[in-house]
Amino acid sequence: MGEATVDRRRRVPRTDVVLADPGLAEATAREGRAAVKAAVVATLQRVREGELDPDAVVGAALAALPGGLRPVLNATGVVLHTNLGRAALSPAARDAVSAAAGHTDVELDLTTGRRAKRGRTALAALHRAVPDAGDVHVVNNGAAALVLAATALAGGGREIIVSRGEMVEIGDGFRLPDLLESTGARLREVGTTNRTSVTDYERAIGPATGFILKVHPSNFVVRGFTSAASIAGLAALPAPVVADIGSGLLAPDPLLPDEPDAASTLTEGADLVIASGDKLLGGPQAGLLLGTAPLIERLRRHPLARALRVDKLTLAALQATLTGPATPTWEALRLAPEELLARTRQVQARLAEVGVESGIVASEAVVGGGGAPELTLPSWSLSLPPAYADRLRTAATPVVGRVERDRLLLDLRCVPPASDPIVVDMVAAVASVAG
Ligand SMILES: *Cc1c(COP(=O)(O)O)cnc(C)c1O
Repeated sequence: MGEATVDRRRRVPRTDVVLADPGLAEATAREGRAAVKAAVVATLQRVREGELDPDAVVGAALAALPGGLRPVLNATGVVLHTNLGRAALSPAARDAVSAAAGHTDVELDLTTGRRAKRGRTALAALHRAVPDAGDVHVVNNGAAALVLAATALAGGGREIIVSRGEMVEIGDGFRLPDLLESTGARLREVGTTNRTSVTDYERAIGPATGFILKVHPSNFVVRGFTSAASIAGLAALPAPVVADIGSGLLAPDPLLPDEPDAASTLTEGADLVIASGDKLLGGPQAGLLLGTAPLIERLRRHPLARALRVDKLTLAALQATLTGPATPTWEALRLAPEELLARTRQVQARLAEVGVESGIVASEAVVGGGGAPELTLPSWSLSLPPAYADRLRTAATPVVGRVERDRLLLDLRCVPPASDPIVVDMVAAVASVAG
């Protein structure tokens, strides 16, 4: 047994000592002693195995609690981080979720006492935001919207015509072609990886055609000798055009010139536009369907629609996102670098006051979440030794940064300004052990 191992074992705290730590009191009151004890026991085993520093036990045990999702400060510089839940909801959307959590009039008209269209006010807000749509519908997420469209318009072996350049993987091993084929539709691939013309689509149209699908390559770019058919070009063909624009911009945004938006895509002639609610729109996880009134009605009436419907919390958050103030996503994307630098300097100064040294470096932030893959936002980050990374992630309030060139970078762009003092507290708290 090596000296380091002996030293570590000697330093493994006792379970009852850890359980008495005031840092666990709140969790014990909320989730019960048994759950907290189980988390502590599992965490101490990790210390014994040398995976974890004894000083990080309380934070790691809290992180290991099965209790529920924990709030995290996103200091990664990735605005829409899929592992951190993509878009953070606006305060208005959070309030709306909380208000709708009890009983609510989601399907009741309070004036007449009759049943009403589910989520009508949220749907109306979405329609108002994109008046070019004939009608709108909302389902669980972008993938669900695709499944619904594929099933209703091309199920039973009909064909979806799609470019070979748009057979994308959307993340975590999920591939669009597999998703579409799971509905019973058949894919009719046209064109090549780098070039597909309107004529390629036209030649593939036949009696078995369900629709033409155009997918926005939201997480990669193909450069060089490339060409793709425009929506306007496809709209002239005798088949419905479905456009999966991915990121959920409803109208053009000058900051994101390469991201398609729902209004323009409809104006160009798409029959149906599909987008996610929790990407650039900055709302809850949802799949937005915007299109011609008959098409939307067909989707809404399809039996599968019931299985993909959104709950009242999503509808509440979506409506507040659409009608409320700027979302945290919008604000993070537009945060002025000088303002970010000022906040970062303030955090650095507060840390210096408690004897923690840190640096400030110019860095780059990205949209993430499968949006605007080329866009980088000039940013600033607090720079710390890499040993801070694990401990901050398992701190009482987890702070997730990113390790780059052997430094931990904390980019405050996506941290609510009111939470800057928490970043200071967490860094200060782990400084003594992180060295
Ligand atoms: C993100 C994305 C999806 C999947 O949407 P979810 O809301 O994550 O289900 C589908 N297509 C494109 C082009 C995307 O960018």
